[in-house]
Amino acid sequence: MEKKVMRISSVILGMVMVLCVGLFLGVSDIHYKSEVFAKEVEESREYKQSLKDRMRDEIENAKELASFADKGQIRIALPKDITESDIKLKEDITNREYQVVIPNVNDEYFDSNPIMGSVSVIDDFSVYEDFGKGYFDIKLNGIYECKHTTDGEYLYLDFEDPHKIYDNVVVIDAGHGGKDVGAIQGKYNEKDIDLDIVLKLKALLDNDTSIKAYYTRLTDVNPSLEERVKLSNDVGADVFLSVHNNSLSGFGSATTSGTQVLYYVSDNTGNSKVFADICLDKLCSYLGSDNRGLVNGDDIYIIHNSKSPVALVEIGFLSNQSDLIKLTNEDYQKECAKALYDSIKEMISKTYKE
Ligand SMILES: [Zn+2]
Repeated sequence: MEKKVMRISSVILGMVMVLCVGLFLGVSDIHYKSEVFAKEVEESREYKQSLKDRMRDEIENAKELASFADKGQIRIALPKDITESDIKLKEDITNREYQVVIPNVNDEYFDSNPIMGSVSVIDDFSVYEDFGKGYFDIKLNGIYECKHTTDGEYLYLDFEDPHKIYDNVVVIDAGHGGKDVGAIQGKYNEKDIDLDIVLKLKALLDNDTSIKAYYTRLTDVNPSLEERVKLSNDVGADVFLSVHNNSLSGFGSATTSGTQVLYYVSDNTGNSKVFADICLDKLCSYLGSDNRGLVNGDDIYIIHNSKSPVALVEIGFLSNQSDLIKLTNEDYQKECAKALYDSIKEMISKTYKE
């Protein structure tokens, strides 16, 4: 009985020992396996997190892109130490072109810092580097007001419909320019007098935050007649004003003086006549010039192609000595500008308010 018990207990002990060794070996194996498993879990967690991060980034990017698209906004990364004042922005309204020039840019800059944003206002664009400067040239599909802002890291460009920003939008056309000098009297060319008056009108319009004025020219250049009237039509001008001066040749021409205004007789709305009437009335009363009346301008290209109320003012005659002296006088030109400014104000208050 004792022996039997002994045997049984030794068997049990042996079994326990085998079990213990097995357990020990098993535990160490489990321990090793659990370490691998934990590492895998950790890696998988990191992978999931990185996926999440990437997805979040993608979503953020998509959101950002969507917000650019909504806002019609473009974002350009600024190189280090470059501030807003270092950036040059050029606008060519006639050609609907816009250029951003950024200094301190190498030829790989835009590859690592792509320009992002909406193309809803863009017909075409190019991004390039030249002599350490980065260029972003845009051909716009219409006429927009470009506002630029920066948060230090990026430059943001916003292109907006001017009608959404300003109460009124007008287009002013200084006659002739460049090789087309207009009327000539001695050393005087009509194109210069037309432009002088328009620049003085611009000074008045610049101070008026309710009106946005676009100009067919502000220097001695000669846009085509088509480009001039297209600017007005494309921007949907509330009024289109063309500034000219007159001249006559032949017998008795020197005695003819005064102001006349051409308008679109065939304009069904009658607005061209209303505007022309206002211009004629104000020019004659402010300047004390002879009222030579309204003239049918239907044959004039920029008149019969204008979709906006149009007036072409012939303020005075270069061929008349008295008119010429006045027209080349700064103060008289300022008075011309004032008469035209007040005419625009009256016309838009009549037509577009209330
Ligand atoms: Zn002219």
